[in-house]
Amino acid sequence: MGVRRSFTFLLRPTARQAAALAACLEDHRQLYNVALEHRRTAYARAGVSVRYGEQSAELKHIRADDPDGQGRWSFSSQQATLRRLDKAFAAFFKRVRAGRAPGFPRFKGRGRFDTVEWPKDGDGCRWDSQPEHPTATYVRLQGVGHVRVHRHRPVRGQVKTISVTREGSRWFVVLSCDDVPAEPLPATGVVAGIDMGVASLVTTSDGQHLTNPRHLAASAGRLADAQRVLARKQRGSKRRRKAVARVAALHARVRRQRLDGAHKAARALVAAYDVIVHEDLRIANMTRSAVGTIESPGRNVAAKSGLNRSILDAGWGVFLTILAYKAESAGRKLIAVNPAGTSRTCARCGHSARENRVTQAGFACTACGHTAHADVNAAKNILRAGLALREPAEAA
Ligand SMILES: [Zn+2]
Repeated sequence: MGVRRSFTFLLRPTARQAAALAACLEDHRQLYNVALEHRRTAYARAGVSVRYGEQSAELKHIRADDPDGQGRWSFSSQQATLRRLDKAFAAFFKRVRAGRAPGFPRFKGRGRFDTVEWPKDGDGCRWDSQPEHPTATYVRLQGVGHVRVHRHRPVRGQVKTISVTREGSRWFVVLSCDDVPAEPLPATGVVAGIDMGVASLVTTSDGQHLTNPRHLAASAGRLADAQRVLARKQRGSKRRRKAVARVAALHARVRRQRLDGAHKAARALVAAYDVIVHEDLRIANMTRSAVGTIESPGRNVAAKSGLNRSILDAGWGVFLTILAYKAESAGRKLIAVNPAGTSRTCARCGHSARENRVTQAGFACTACGHTAHADVNAAKNILRAGLALREPAEAA
């Protein structure tokens, strides 16, 4: 059984290649903005939406008119950039149809466009382009050349897409691979429910608290501050440019910290449990905001603002995606359950009341007197709900 997985490696471009990578990224950014401008104008003047197919057909002319600029890069990578814009518009119209008032897709400023994708290995790009080299690994990128890769572990499966991402002054290549052989882990005979929270990303039904996102919370706070500073800067000023760069750098750091924490927690869970029951996030998001279980997340992670909180919240989706990949690869089973009531129901006697939840972290049943950490109590309820779903299916 094969799974889909991505591999990320640091690139070691020469100075000339680094300049070419920067030019490649910049041209793709401009292409994105030009195509966006085209769509905005058509929409504003005539109320028509321009389709991906028209913009892709236009590419031929753009390349022919600019052989030393846009014409240098892979046609397919440029199409991927146009498709990315198309996705942004699709999401925009979806929100409009849902009756919300979304912001129009925005132009990408310098430093706000950091990835170019080649949608197919062998088309304008080639992974392991110099296989005869005894020690080093290279990736060939059209217009850039054979770039050396710091391949710190083997790549398995079939390379499908190749992306290059800039992070500060460093460049990374990301390979998305299909048919990566699964690596089943030996059964442990242990099952767990997990509660996703703010003070800890994950709390298990047997009482473990995984990855305290204190560093993430600190970065999120700094990001919120930096965004407030940015809002006060005058358009076009040098100080504003510096503030924009700081916000972008903090965004990148938050992303990285969130990924690190999610990988760490998912690895630990998959190693320890055969079956992991978690909240169905689509339902959880609704009930959370209604019940307000994360309104006072404790002093450690003082959520300074709505923004701060939303940055922490967004981590759950990332975490579940990573957990799903790792679970599939390891042959573990995930079960999603409706989390309604799990935070106020007593895991010992089943009594359900809002008064059971005495503080953010404290649970004390008003019926049977059972006390527990609130997240552990919730995780136990989640586990029970998951096993209840599972048993009829297993018995059948
Ligand atoms: Zn009770």
